[in-house]
Amino acid sequence: MLLQGRTAAISGAASARGIGRATAKLFAEHGARVAILDLDEAGAKAAAAELGPQHVGIGCDVTDPASCKAAADAVLAAFGQCDILLNNAGITQPLKLMEIGPENWGKVLDVNLSGVLYLSQAFVPHMKERRRGSIACMSSVSAQRGGGIFGGPHYSAAKAGVLGLAKAMARELGPFGIRVNCVTPGLIQTDITGGKLTDEMRVEIRKGIPLDRLGEASDVAGCYLFLASDLSAYVTGAVIDVNGGMLIH
Ligand code: NAD
Repeated sequence: MLLQGRTAAISGAASARGIGRATAKLFAEHGARVAILDLDEAGAKAAAAELGPQHVGIGCDVTDPASCKAAADAVLAAFGQCDILLNNAGITQPLKLMEIGPENWGKVLDVNLSGVLYLSQAFVPHMKERRRGSIACMSSVSAQRGGGIFGGPHYSAAKAGVLGLAKAMARELGPFGIRVNCVTPGLIQTDITGGKLTDEMRVEIRKGIPLDRLGEASDVAGCYLFLASDLSAYVTGAVIDVNGGMLIH
């Protein structure tokens, strides 16, 4: 039980096969009370109810600072405190450079990058006051290797931005007892690809993975658990690869 007595807010944790949902389940198994924050409010509530009555589901659009603030207030009203924030919500689009229009760019940057800023800003004052907190942010191998897996260049740019933002947050918030880290998964089998990832693409991707399999949501959940718990008490500004060896650097 690595998170006994702890409380966690996880964005993008409603989708049934998603990384956030698997993480919420693992955190609950480790004793945490979990707030599931998602654009899909009904899904968030249903996911929380499935975990048990001590957990909460809250509608939240991470691209909207007011929605983030309202969600943070709701988490604190429900739990009285928040020890852990996972900036996990994200979207992707399989576009090539010349196909990216301003709307695609805006949407992908808003959810994946601005969302990390806005949701962190909503929780940081509380964490600063308590002089404790662990924030983990979702990046991607796509940030490190320039895409080429599924998401387009705008996705790579957004996820690379997350690395810079999180490292700067780690520097600024360390003196307040708040750690900030990132995870960089390779291809994880969830529904984010919206059925557009073909079997041929899977076979091709697998050829480049030394561990010879695609990732599971639980693979990332385990890393989030490490970063959320005291096992990583002296880890901040770090980037943890969860890619089966797809990128070794
Ligand atoms: P998913 O689609 O299952 O989950 C994403 C969740 O984010 C959904 O529940 C969705 O409703 C929510 N969401 C979308 N926009 C939102 C918004 N504006 N506000 C709040 N919630 C919003 O996908 P997943 O694969 O579990 O992805 C989780 C994170 O992992 C994403 O940031 C994704 O970019 C990242 N990631 C995924 C992979 C992969 O291969 N699946 C690899 C690297 C990184």
